[in-house]
Amino acid sequence: MDKVTCIVVGAGPAGSACAYTLAKKGIEVVLLERGRRPGEKNVAGFVLFTSVLEHLIPDFRKRAPLERNVTRFDTVDINCGSVKTFHDYNYNFIDDPISFTAFRSKFDNWFAREAVKAGAELITGMTVTDLIIENDRVVGVKIDDDELYADVVVGADGIHSTVAEKSGLIKKRDPKKGYLVVKEILDLPPDVINKRFQLREGEGCCVEGEFIDDVNCVYTLYTNKDSVSMAIDCIVDDLKEKHVKAHELLEKIKSHPYMHSLLEGATLREYQAHMETIGEPIRPECLYGNGVLLCGEAGTMIDIWGTGVPPAMLSGMMAAEAIEMAIRKNDYSAKTLKNYINYLDSTSLWRTMYDAEKQMACKMIAADIMEKSMRHYYSYIEREPYPFWKNMYLQFGKDFTPIFIRWIVTGWLHVSSLYSTLYNRITKRFVGRYHDWKND
Ligand SMILES: Cc1cc2nc3c(=O)[nH]c(=O)nc-3n(C[C@H](O)[C@H](O)[C@H](O)COP(=O)(O)OP(=O)(O)OC[C@H]3O[C@@H](n4cnc5c(N)ncnc54)[C@H](O)[C@@H]3O)c2cc1C
Repeated sequence: MDKVTCIVVGAGPAGSACAYTLAKKGIEVVLLERGRRPGEKNVAGFVLFTSVLEHLIPDFRKRAPLERNVTRFDTVDINCGSVKTFHDYNYNFIDDPISFTAFRSKFDNWFAREAVKAGAELITGMTVTDLIIENDRVVGVKIDDDELYADVVVGADGIHSTVAEKSGLIKKRDPKKGYLVVKEILDLPPDVINKRFQLREGEGCCVEGEFIDDVNCVYTLYTNKDSVSMAIDCIVDDLKEKHVKAHELLEKIKSHPYMHSLLEGATLREYQAHMETIGEPIRPECLYGNGVLLCGEAGTMIDIWGTGVPPAMLSGMMAAEAIEMAIRKNDYSAKTLKNYINYLDSTSLWRTMYDAEKQMACKMIAADIMEKSMRHYYSYIEREPYPFWKNMYLQFGKDFTPIFIRWIVTGWLHVSSLYSTLYNRITKRFVGRYHDWKND
């Protein structure tokens, strides 16, 4: 019977981070990956926020296969007759980057090889089909007819996690309720990208927005060295209900004049599709069991923006810490592995997830206010929001009114407008928008 200390299922960001951390601690770990090489089956936009990776591999920038340093985040609204753009160009990111565009096929392979260099054993082309469970404890995995035993099994096998399902920690997800992402990689010469997206050498840009149509979706457009990645996320149920095909929706967005001006002449290199778990709550009690832990998207760790790689890496690292403690205690029961949650609590993972929700609300509020104020400012034929007598007074009355009455009336107008401004602000801030959004 083959037995190792730890089996990690899946060489995505969560699995490789876990294997890397365990190997660095000198713990025996086997990383099993179904693809012929890590990254072969993996899809993402892909913007890599690097704070977690930097912690793991401080000099990653010199060695990792990265495309462009993202210095600009654009929000674009193409839903009205006019296009509204919000450019967030952060000059600090030029010398002190926080994110890079990359390709998962290259990045995941590199990251898994780093785990191997640290001492992990990587076996590719191996699909885990089931778990071996004895006395209510996970003691190994089945790979078709083969079996491999371990003290702990880490499920880092992504959205359709076999480990999560077979261990009973998370029920099989209903694919109809998930998000479907379709993505194209489109070739464009680097100088054309720089010119159209107003970028300097090595700099990258992320364009994001919502497209409101029969089926609403979020689109992303990221610049790589000599290509751009264009993707849309839509709810599978919506597509089915409205009989809309995701690739047709993508074509529709690409043909919008604004998008067309960015993409004109681009040629298709690759087409990809994948599911995402966005919006599912993380339930910490479902992340550990007897002899088993779940990391990354297997444990639904992805924020509302669909940023899942840093949470995946972070959870992989924390799982490794919990495993080290279990080894010290020689106890692999849920009681000891529960420390995984304490380790996660000690990071800013939950706060980051919450901040992402708040940030999404703010962006929506900002877009909403911009839209409304522009409409109001230019709506010459709309009725003025002032009451009739106030209008009359402002138009004609004030020049004929004795000065002391003018003071009283003007004072009263100021107080009443101050009151309504305050009232609007308070209700908008605490009751209206935020509440609406929370219920969406
Ligand atoms: C189109 C798209 C765009 C995205 N863009 C971004 C982005 O820009 N930035 C970001 O941070 N996140 C992004 N995400 C989310 C991110 O890709 C995921 O959250 C992240 O990859 C989760 O990492 P993971 O290691 O948990 O799972 P995965 O990356 O899914 O890795 C799981 C691994 O397990 C392997 N595996 C699965 N089942 C088995 C099995 N039974 N046996 C053996 N191996 C198995 C898979 O082959 C894979 O290598 C995007 C997702 C999509 C779909």
